Amino acid sequence: MNKKISILLIAVIIAIFSGLAYNYFFSQKEISASEEVFDIKKSQEETTKDRVEKILINNGDTFGNLMATSGVEYALAMEIYDAAQDVYDLVKIRVGRVIELVYNKDTDELKELRYKIDTEDELRIRNLKYFDNTKVASGTLEKVKGWEAKLEAIPYEVKTRIAEGVVESSMYQAAMDNDIDIRAIIELANAFQWSIDFAMDPRVGDKFKLIYEERFLDGKYIMPGQIFAAVYVNDGKEHYVYYFEESEDNKGFFDEDGNSVQKMFLKAPVEFKYISSGYTAGTRVIMELGIAGSHRAIDYAAPIGTPIRTVGNGTVTFTGWSSIGYGYLTSIRHNGTYSTNYAHQSKIAVKRGQKVSQGDIIGYVGSTGYSTGPHLHYEMVKNGAKIDPLKEVLPPGKPIKDENKERFFESIKSLMEELKIFTAQVFKE
Ligand SMILES: [Zn+2]
Repeated sequence: MNKKISILLIAVIIAIFSGLAYNYFFSQKEISASEEVFDIKKSQEETTKDRVEKILINNGDTFGNLMATSGVEYALAMEIYDAAQDVYDLVKIRVGRVIELVYNKDTDELKELRYKIDTEDELRIRNLKYFDNTKVASGTLEKVKGWEAKLEAIPYEVKTRIAEGVVESSMYQAAMDNDIDIRAIIELANAFQWSIDFAMDPRVGDKFKLIYEERFLDGKYIMPGQIFAAVYVNDGKEHYVYYFEESEDNKGFFDEDGNSVQKMFLKAPVEFKYISSGYTAGTRVIMELGIAGSHRAIDYAAPIGTPIRTVGNGTVTFTGWSSIGYGYLTSIRHNGTYSTNYAHQSKIAVKRGQKVSQGDIIGYVGSTGYSTGPHLHYEMVKNGAKIDPLKEVLPPGKPIKDENKERFFESIKSLMEELKIFTAQVFKE
């Protein structure tokens, strides 16, 4: 191959992978810089509209210097900063995000400052003289002066998308083949995290379908939103999830009978977004030297420093150096029957006696003790004997209350039909 072409190819591959890696480490609440695409033409909207200036926050920027650079007088910047104080502290603005300054089309005076604090809410600080701001004061209508800050839900346009994929090498490959945002796949893995270990369980030929929201702003795709329903056919077995809000305090995913999909244990002690980058369908084997006896454990290859989470609620019963090859080890007792062990850590993040909740970070992946490479050695112990956690069958989670069941079945009806058509097709093939 021509040398120039190979260099170009390598550059393209690096660009693709760094983009992906970037996505892995941003949870849904984060906003990545790439989502804020600058459209200079758009920001200098037609003369009939207010002028909008978009300011990208770079490393080292502060609210004060950004305002100064944009020509906002110091006193005014301070007034805006003070107005925001109760709602949001503008000291906390983050690199990669954007501040929008809106200038009135007639006077070219600053009328509003907007800043998206996360993927859900936008801070809006308004010059009250340009907004509906009359109030009754001493018997007469009076114009209120000054600035007022509010947090408002970002007004996304939401479209429902139905997508499906086949796992030929990994979930990431399946996502890319089908033009599914990798963040939607991460959410999908989260929805199934009590039933499928996406590092160990997927098989070549697994199929999935999901029905979810895609969010747009000004016609431009921004990010995935809520997953409403999904099915994952793993090694010939169907798993369904349906999103339902039973009450303000109880919303989440349920199976088709209305049982919460949340169980006593997570399937994997490492989150999908951290381990799946290099994942290929099939079994992962890591040589381990010196640990005597049968290897009743699961090894998760992951970079040093990858967070380890406890698979269930419990109490930490051991932390420290193991004399039998486990390196830095943490043991957690979940109840009278079950406990779990997490070995070869680079760093332990909990103390003996500490109470932990499912999903809490308890340490970080390392290669301490008898280990030939960075990985987490994870064991589940039942009544004193090591078992295969992937095979352990656990009772279903808490069901929806009887009085809400009808509402639940009604809300999932059409989603279920959609998914069942898909699985019927999968099993016919
Ligand atoms: Zn191991």
